[in-house]
Amino acid sequence: MARTIAIANQKGGVGKTTSSINLAASLAAMKKRVLLVDMDPQGNATMGSGVDKHGIERSVYDVLVHRAPVHLITQRAPEGGFDVLPANSDLTAAEVELLDIEHKERRLRTALQEVAGLYDYILVDCPPSLNMLTLNALVAADGVLIAMQCEYFALEGLSALVSTINRIGESVNLPLRIEGILRTLYDPRNSLTNDVSAQLHGHFGDLVYRTVVPRNVRLAEAPSHGLPAMYYDRHSRGAKAYMALAGEVIRREEKRQQESQQPVTSD
Ligand code: ADP
Ligand code: MG
Repeated sequence: MARTIAIANQKGGVGKTTSSINLAASLAAMKKRVLLVDMDPQGNATMGSGVDKHGIERSVYDVLVHRAPVHLITQRAPEGGFDVLPANSDLTAAEVELLDIEHKERRLRTALQEVAGLYDYILVDCPPSLNMLTLNALVAADGVLIAMQCEYFALEGLSALVSTINRIGESVNLPLRIEGILRTLYDPRNSLTNDVSAQLHGHFGDLVYRTVVPRNVRLAEAPSHGLPAMYYDRHSRGAKAYMALAGEVIRREEKRQQESQQPVTSD
């Protein structure tokens, strides 16, 4: 069964989409079966995976609103080694169209159950707000990967997001948890970066990934070629960082599974 990870932060420009695409490609390179779900009407994860958002007939919008089967809409990323459930501006309408529907926040969760056996990881790229689309992503997820830039107001935004995650977990009665906290656009020469990093470790301990994603121009260039960074410049620091992150994600999962299999001892 797939582990579903939502990549979220209500702030834009923090590297959610870059992380979604490159983590998908890196997990795929490690022989994992991966589906990347684009939940942002901007369709950046779709385009950055090499799927033309203008050329698709149906998208995640049809999955959410018309219950179209996921496997009929999914496309293969031309060079990424993973599948994409694409999005485009049609998705903007979903929020309004879902308004009167019962269990509207569970639409994505229900839809993804159909393909859970086909993948090891389902990554969901969230839009930069806490709207109905993000709510659907969070409800569908087993864990949330928070992408964040180590800057001054980042921690404030983070506590809002963490309380939202906790509230959602309680309200839908699902064990939603923080999968990990990823520091993106990382610049160690900036002293603020180190301060924020230290605070993150203080608050979240081991949830903070050891891997940091440096500011790297290759990561910014690759999407315009419709490629994950590892297929654009595999020696780039950005591509290597996301390979390291994929290793960490897999090791955490293995550890979790081992722990859940350990016999419970009394006294
Ligand atoms: P979000 O999805 O959170 O809005 P994006 O992943 O789209 O953020 O990133 C915002 C912008 O910053 C994009 O132009 C992207 O190419 C660029 N970017 C993201 N991460 C990096 C990085 N580590 N180094 C350089 N540029 C980056
Ligand atoms: Mg984005």
